[in-house]
Amino acid sequence: MTHSPLRLRLDGDALVANWRLLRDMSGGAACGAAIKADGYGLGAREVVQRLAEAGCRDFFVAMWSEARALADLGVSVSVLHGVRDADMEDRPANARPVLNTIEQVRRWREAGGGLCDVMVDTGMNRLGIAPEDVAGGLLDGLRIDTLMSHLACADEDVPLNERQRTAFAALAGRTSANRMSLANSAGIALGTDYAFDLTRPGIALYGGRQRAAHAGIRQVVTPQVQILQRRRVPAGGIVGYNATFTAPADMEVAVLNLGYADGYLRCFSGKGRARAGDAVLPVIGRVSMDLTAIAVDAVPGLAEGDWVSLDYALPETAALSGLSQYELITGLGERFDRVWG
Ligand SMILES: *Cc1c(COP(=O)(O)O)cnc(C)c1O
Repeated sequence: MTHSPLRLRLDGDALVANWRLLRDMSGGAACGAAIKADGYGLGAREVVQRLAEAGCRDFFVAMWSEARALADLGVSVSVLHGVRDADMEDRPANARPVLNTIEQVRRWREAGGGLCDVMVDTGMNRLGIAPEDVAGGLLDGLRIDTLMSHLACADEDVPLNERQRTAFAALAGRTSANRMSLANSAGIALGTDYAFDLTRPGIALYGGRQRAAHAGIRQVVTPQVQILQRRRVPAGGIVGYNATFTAPADMEVAVLNLGYADGYLRCFSGKGRARAGDAVLPVIGRVSMDLTAIAVDAVPGLAEGDWVSLDYALPETAALSGLSQYELITGLGERFDRVWG
């Protein structure tokens, strides 16, 4: 197989270390893993294999197609978006729905009401049934593994966190659920009061840091790209579409096989950075669909075919680009080879 001129270096040790850290931060609660959107872009199968070996037992996807793609791995998968009529036929044995609506609860009961999870809305007004419907008996008789809710602002210090926690805690013992689960990555950092029986980190597994308590989280994803051409640009020469960069002096430029079609978006124009060893190589001019230019005077030997790494530490890169840490990794496209080390 010929390799692509762009690859994601994925640090499997860092992934596992991040999961262990989040598990330890979860106190006595079990620690699962959100692996929707193909493991946040890293490759869900490879993530599952590594985390299952480390002891992770609970995995979360958004849709049934994602659960089907993991059916042969033998791990337990919860499907966060629940069940539509169209989902009822082809459900893998290892997966169960997270029921979110009265209609989904009815559909699940009519199909026999096997083991399921249930999402309760405690104030985010995204997915989930109302706590009053739980009190009203909507879930009576259902076989529930995990009752869950989701925090709207866990990456901020706002009173809503505690309000949601209190509303959720009030549901303890009100259903047949074996376990309760509230915290995502940022919620884990709010303390073990938020952990209940099971936590559901996603972004922090993959190198996201949203709160000070995430300081020990390690970077997992590093994009690397090959140089297609190295050229000399004379003083006054422009680089790229719309001539947004003009060389202030004679300079050396390398053109990378990377662009916004790969998820390296135009917001990195004139702002992003690549690196060869310790040398910093700034992005100059506009990022185009498949190509990006960098200044390479700092590394005289760097030539066509050589690889450079992009600066891609998630919190810093989010601050630089205006993209969220989530967008930064889920947007990295199919043209990257995913290379685990
Ligand atoms: C995506 C998701 C998570 C993981 O969230 P992170 O912020 O990535 O840790 C947890 N729970 C639910 C319901 C989710 O949708």
